[in-house]
Amino acid sequence: MRSLLALAGIMVLLACSKTSPETVDQSPARPNIIFIMTDDHAKNAMSIYGSKLVNTPNLDRIGQEGMVFHRSYVTNSICGPSRAVFLTGKYSHLNGFRDNSDQFDGSQMTYPKILQDQGYYTAVVGKWHLKSVPQGFDYWNVLIGQGDYYNPTMVNMGDTLDHRGYTTTVITDLALEALDTKIPADKPFCLMVHHKAPHRNWMPDSVHLALGEQTYPLPDNFYDNYENRPAAAQQDQSISGMFMSSDMKLDPARVTVETGTGGAQDNSNIARGWQTLYDRMTPAQKEYWDAYYMPISDQFFDADLQGKELVEWKYQRYINDYLKCIMSVDDNVGRLLDHLQQKGELDNTWIIYTSDQGFYLGEHGWYDKRFMYEESFGMPLLMRYPPVIAPGSENHNLVMNLDFAPTVMDLLNIESDQPWQGQSLVPLMKGENREVHPDGIYYHYYEYPHGWHKVKRHYGISTDRYKLIHFYNDIDHWELYDLQQDPGEMNNIYETANRELVQELKEKLVQLQNQYRDEQAMQYN
Ligand code: CA
Repeated sequence: MRSLLALAGIMVLLACSKTSPETVDQSPARPNIIFIMTDDHAKNAMSIYGSKLVNTPNLDRIGQEGMVFHRSYVTNSICGPSRAVFLTGKYSHLNGFRDNSDQFDGSQMTYPKILQDQGYYTAVVGKWHLKSVPQGFDYWNVLIGQGDYYNPTMVNMGDTLDHRGYTTTVITDLALEALDTKIPADKPFCLMVHHKAPHRNWMPDSVHLALGEQTYPLPDNFYDNYENRPAAAQQDQSISGMFMSSDMKLDPARVTVETGTGGAQDNSNIARGWQTLYDRMTPAQKEYWDAYYMPISDQFFDADLQGKELVEWKYQRYINDYLKCIMSVDDNVGRLLDHLQQKGELDNTWIIYTSDQGFYLGEHGWYDKRFMYEESFGMPLLMRYPPVIAPGSENHNLVMNLDFAPTVMDLLNIESDQPWQGQSLVPLMKGENREVHPDGIYYHYYEYPHGWHKVKRHYGISTDRYKLIHFYNDIDHWELYDLQQDPGEMNNIYETANRELVQELKEKLVQLQNQYRDEQAMQYN
């Protein structure tokens, strides 16, 4: 493998030497890579995507000085599976990580392993969530499982260590430390910075609690009757069912009955679980925490809210905490960018910002992800790399997390023998307006009936304009949306649409299932 890659590298160099002057790529041959990924960050909570909820100047900077991908999507909208797709460039049914009950087979090929083989220093800090030990990294320092928001316990190359502080800041500190003290000066590096935030249960840092509670607008489709959408009707991720203790941060001593089940889980231990999270905090942390949340709790119990008043109060509580977690991500990404700039490494580093998927911020009345609807199917994607990407670039082509690994290979001119299932985004990064997925993009979600939130298994195809979804397993239900006419996906037109259109989309769906070798799905078509 090593000799094959070395030979390929020489061939690429020879090929480059023949390039005419006007097409010479100004990029350094081996740029550094910083891949920043948050967990559950909705595009609707980033100002560069037009959010009316929050200002994210540091995240926006990556896109403003680089490229904003407006139509970036995930193959399977849940944490572990998305991470496995990023690493392998293969769909879940081939990399073996279909849902969060799976364990990642770390022996398979991943892009960090190839980079390491090519002489890159590879590192990952923060959330890993693939259960197996990270492979292909010179340095790894990762949270255990979902990780904690305060004083996280992390595993540093096999050694378990307790850290003091707010986790988004702790992970950033570890990234800065890696840049300053671990990465050899004579090596290019690939540093993956994976935040826990803004994953449930949305515990903000003190500096953002100091901003206080705000009132946010309800999404237009907050109240949804789920007409013609039985899977949407039968989920268990409605804001009305959020937990009063761990989600809403009410005084657990006064929460006599928890609301919601989160799906398959028994909710009787939720308050106890919340107490464990609270107990992680130091006395000083508990002091500012209680000073913020106890008055909210007291007011809530005095008010005795019911019906719409109660669910809208829950929405406000949820969004207030979620956005404060985002603000910390934004501050810390700013620290990382400033640090790179001070080191003179900013412009020769390819910086990527994304999330493992999107999230619902009250659309359809929901939180969480999983569905192939836009809010959780879509994800932020920003890139900054001045030698290739012109500042202020915007892209509206369909792209996927599946494309990342082959994009790394293409940008670094690495010839690999891997059967990547995605496409290189380098032409788009250079400003070409080209569909890398001209027949549409394919999705497949598996975590049902086990796991959280009761979102039924489904697969589907999304084209530039239409989205066709098939829910299967204990249901056989098709949905079709015209994304131009109905961007909120409230009107399932499967039964009423032109049959030729339906037939054409079904044929494209089968074509993609064949192309991606998802034979298992084809039996349900
Ligand atoms: Ca996630």
